[in-house]
Amino acid sequence: MAIEQVFNQHKRPLGVNEVLEFGRAIVEKLNQATVYRNLNNLTEEGWLNKIVHPTLGTLYERTGKGHHHLFHCRKCNRAYDLPGCALNEKEAAPDGFLLEDHEIYLYGVCRSCHNKSH
Ligand SMILES: [Zn+2]
Ligand SMILES: [Zn+2]
Repeated sequence: MAIEQVFNQHKRPLGVNEVLEFGRAIVEKLNQATVYRNLNNLTEEGWLNKIVHPTLGTLYERTGKGHHHLFHCRKCNRAYDLPGCALNEKEAAPDGFLLEDHEIYLYGVCRSCHNKSH
């Protein structure tokens, strides 16, 4: 319950430590084993999606968002969902190549970190 609440509140992909931190604001005694067990159960049920991010490691996000990509803010070290996709698959691969899927990871500074530095 607490874990579902965390994802509904934050609306972005979260690492295990973030889930633990935010979950403890709801259930004080929440421990890491419980968080791991529930993240696995919610993933098996199809409520969460497990992502292995090249720099942030394992992240979990709500399923059902459709095709999208992640933006990693290097200042706050958080991952954000980006709406839609800017890649034109038709032009991405040379002639004769059959493109089946792609993964894109974007990096930079998020709005809130950017505003703080001005
Ligand atoms: Zn940031
Ligand atoms: Zn895409």
